[in-house]
Amino acid sequence: MQLEDQKVNERMERIRHKVLILSGKGGVGKSTVAVNLAVALATAGKKVGLLDIDIHGPSVPKMLGVEGMSLHGTEESLHPLAVGDNLRVMSIGFLLRNTDDAVIWRGPMKYNVIKQFLGDVEWGELDYLIVDSPPGTGDEPLSIAQLISNADGAVIVTTPQNVALIDVRKCINFCGELSIPVIGVVENMSGFICPKCGERTDIFKSGGGEEMARDVKVPFLGRIPLDAGIVSASDDGKPYIVNFPDTEAGKIFAAIAAPILRLFEARNGETEKTEKTEKTGNAEVGATKGGNVRIALPVVEGHLSMHFGHCSHFELVNIDMDKKKILARETIDSPEHQPGLLPAWLHERGVNMIIACGMGSRAQALFNEKGIEVVVGAPSEDPDSVVRAYLEGTLSTGRNVCDH
Ligand code: ADP
Repeated sequence: MQLEDQKVNERMERIRHKVLILSGKGGVGKSTVAVNLAVALATAGKKVGLLDIDIHGPSVPKMLGVEGMSLHGTEESLHPLAVGDNLRVMSIGFLLRNTDDAVIWRGPMKYNVIKQFLGDVEWGELDYLIVDSPPGTGDEPLSIAQLISNADGAVIVTTPQNVALIDVRKCINFCGELSIPVIGVVENMSGFICPKCGERTDIFKSGGGEEMARDVKVPFLGRIPLDAGIVSASDDGKPYIVNFPDTEAGKIFAAIAAPILRLFEARNGETEKTEKTEKTGNAEVGATKGGNVRIALPVVEGHLSMHFGHCSHFELVNIDMDKKKILARETIDSPEHQPGLLPAWLHERGVNMIIACGMGSRAQALFNEKGIEVVVGAPSEDPDSVVRAYLEGTLSTGRNVCDH
């Protein structure tokens, strides 16, 4: 491994969760979402870094009122600027004399600049790094996604017009190819609410982002209306969410932060589990539950489905955990796909545990909220063998094979 790559990896290892903010094209509000999300997480008490690496239009310094401030550093590292107690900010804009500099760089040069930048910034320990990536799905976001190799997920920002939505599909495919889980889609500039009469006008149409998210089965995080306050907050360098938390837009920024905060809780639970599993090589049977347990196993063509959401039916197995005995079993068809339905649907059917090959951390958090424990990384074998192995304590759980 090259020294520079190693440097990037070392820096990234000290950051618990990395979230990329992507958009199909420029000007849709990607930086606005990145800034307000980072501020929302910092306000929730997390240690947050905000990295603005949009080399063609770095706007974060202006949005946070730190434009033109001087950076400190050593030969080896650059120190991000502190904004309040919990937020650190670094922007490629601090280093560019003007944005035209970036435009004349050729591909390999951009890659090297991005890599050096990622390796040089000394974040220290962080709970979250929010990365404001360049727009589109070209070489620049690709370099970033490859360099930040274990990103937890991406938030994709779009406006509701069809032209923008076509680009979002490309973004979703981009994430799929790089195995980056899509945390969700945000529809920005969705309708204008007249500040005088309160009437709503859908200038760029509305709901397109939501419809598309439903089509491609990724979570929809919310619609942010056009709001003159967002422009003035950005221009004045005062994050909107701090000053207008109770407006429609303020509430949606907070709602966007919610699954990312849950990701934190779910991931930390998962890390503990993975550490245990790595030590023993086996899931710890019955360690967390005694009494009777009803397990759901997602099945397709007779074996455990690799992707939790792609199963044709569920095997529901009732087990007496104390006697390690199967009491009853039932097969039920999985319901028509509807985002967010399964946690409630399985809960209503008395399920309190799931054994799956893979499941995204967001989905795991939703099941956990319903009191359903999730075991991931099971082999894609027939459900009977999986349950038996689980009861005998020989179920080998490996990597979570599906994390979107
Ligand atoms: P991007 O990062 O996608 O290029 P920005 O976040 O820089 O987009 O936003 C572009 C411009 O649009 C900025 O001036 C910003 O203040 C404004 N803007 C973003 N979202 C909204 C909104 N919901 N209502 C009004 N103006 C917005």
